[in-house]
Amino acid sequence: AGQVAARDTGGPGRTSDGHAVPLLANVGGQSDLDAAVAHGAEGIGLYRTEFLFLGRSEAPSADEQRQVYRAALEAFPGRTVVVRVLDAGADKPLSFLPPSGGEPNPALGERGLRLLRRFPDVLDTQVEALAGAADGSSAHLMIMAPMVATAEEASWFAGVCHVRGLASAGAMIEIPAAALRAESLVTVVDFVSIGTNDLAQYTFAADRELGTLGTLQDPWQPALLDLVHRTATAASDNGKPCGVCGEAAADPLLACVLVGLGATSLSMSPRALPAVRVALAGQTLGQCQLAAQAARGMETPAHARAAARSELPELA
Ligand code: PEP
Ligand code: MG
Repeated sequence: AGQVAARDTGGPGRTSDGHAVPLLANVGGQSDLDAAVAHGAEGIGLYRTEFLFLGRSEAPSADEQRQVYRAALEAFPGRTVVVRVLDAGADKPLSFLPPSGGEPNPALGERGLRLLRRFPDVLDTQVEALAGAADGSSAHLMIMAPMVATAEEASWFAGVCHVRGLASAGAMIEIPAAALRAESLVTVVDFVSIGTNDLAQYTFAADRELGTLGTLQDPWQPALLDLVHRTATAASDNGKPCGVCGEAAADPLLACVLVGLGATSLSMSPRALPAVRVALAGQTLGQCQLAAQAARGMETPAHARAAARSELPELA
């Protein structure tokens, strides 16, 4: 139960000492756009494009896609809109993009960027549509790839985007290898965004769909916090933005810790935005950093949470 005394006054995300942390929305379709605007999102930090492709026998045309992306950009004039290219495979199989073999472990199979590399025309059409939507729009379009494991993959993706004239191409960090080698990966992209849902799943080898592995999927796991810190530090050392767009960012206390670990923006379900905005406004960046350090010094999620809370007494 929150002891958050402050009132949500809207406005941009920032700490009490004025460190700006844009608070962005995760969006999975047209209807989420309204919620994002209504809850004061400063932009979109994760636009999941799967909804456009699911339940079809072939990929939507560039024209159809362009209109949908255009609506997202128009909802946030002058703001950042981060669109993730198709994250198919695993729990989101598409009949027209079959994996090349049987997959006993689809979560470890051809999904996300791996699948798009086998079907480069699908990616190219999507990137073409995004470039068309961005043309003449005042929104700042950033494009990112899901399920990136290596710098080589990230570099390939950035090349596809840059050829189409899209200046800002990034990688999601949701595979431990990408976080472990973030120092090299950040040099080949324009930004990174940490997906804590999959990063937790793959770090702990704990299926995110299983209800029985709760503690291992807890985003307060110190090992997960370590990977966030490592990634954010690598990004900062290279002058690149490092957002967080997994569910972890929706927890007000953890959001402050993520900022303390070095996240430069946070993206979450629209309805989570007001509480995170209030929480952040009650802490200095230094307090967030102390809370992050305290949490990483612990060995369990419960202890990490308690340690962070004791550094951020305004938050219950
Ligand atoms: C994530 O993995 O944390 C993420 C944001 O992507 P999704 O939940 O769509 O896999
Ligand atoms: Mg993911």
